[in-house]
Amino acid sequence: MAAAPFLEVDDIEATYEDVILALRGVSLRVEEGAIVALLGANGAGKTTTLKAISNLLASERGALTRGSVIWKGRSTARLDPAELVARGIVQVLEGRRVFPQLTVEENLLTGGYLRRPSRAEVGNDLARIYTWFPRLKEKRRIRAGLTSGGEQQMIAIGRALMTRPTLVLLDEPSMGLAPIIVQEIFEIIRTLNEDEGVSFLLAEQNAALVLRYADHAYVLETGRLAAAGTAADLAAQGVEALYLGDAP
Ligand code: ATP
Repeated sequence: MAAAPFLEVDDIEATYEDVILALRGVSLRVEEGAIVALLGANGAGKTTTLKAISNLLASERGALTRGSVIWKGRSTARLDPAELVARGIVQVLEGRRVFPQLTVEENLLTGGYLRRPSRAEVGNDLARIYTWFPRLKEKRRIRAGLTSGGEQQMIAIGRALMTRPTLVLLDEPSMGLAPIIVQEIFEIIRTLNEDEGVSFLLAEQNAALVLRYADHAYVLETGRLAAAGTAADLAAQGVEALYLGDAP
């Protein structure tokens, strides 16, 4: 018997305020251990897709009005975000929302509380985060609001990793960051994927970059799937031009 797909999004439609149709029939899958890119211009529906997967639409007066999200063979429709986290899916929201007054380490600790871990487990988890993000170890006693944008993105990812996820939904990790920092963050994502088997669904506008790290990619255009395939195929087709609407 074939294994159930890890994450399967089938023909979803999402609306905001009952009237704004943000997604129209989007389907995608993430296999276990994969890095999948979700590409598209501003407003194409990337964030909405991630929020539909992790059941965060209701908090934005949005709703999934058609289709299904199946995670490890089970519909996520009735699972609240905390239950999803307990089952291994965690979302890192766009815009690196750190608690500026808390230290770097305190920010990381807020990611772990859902599991009610023991003190030893927390120590272990922190040590693991610091091996992937040595910069965060150096700055662990500094208030997060005083760290750089790249470090805040690392804090946001590190905090998500404290939940021990198997799938991370990451929204625009490169946004507003210098290319050298973005590269550092993507290298860490690759390490987490290769060494720890963490899967990623990465929403990104920076197609050229993310296609170098992803296995598969989907391209959204005004809420619809405009293209899908292996990252290598889409890169060869010059997909960046495609989703900006100026392909031949
Ligand atoms: P961005 O890179 O700007 O985040 P995106 O590809 O993630 O773009 P979404 O944020 O998913 O796109 O937006 C898809 C559509 O839904 C857009 O037309 C947007 O204006 C609309 N939209 C998003 N959030 C809301 C909301 N809270 N209320 C109403 N409309 C929304």
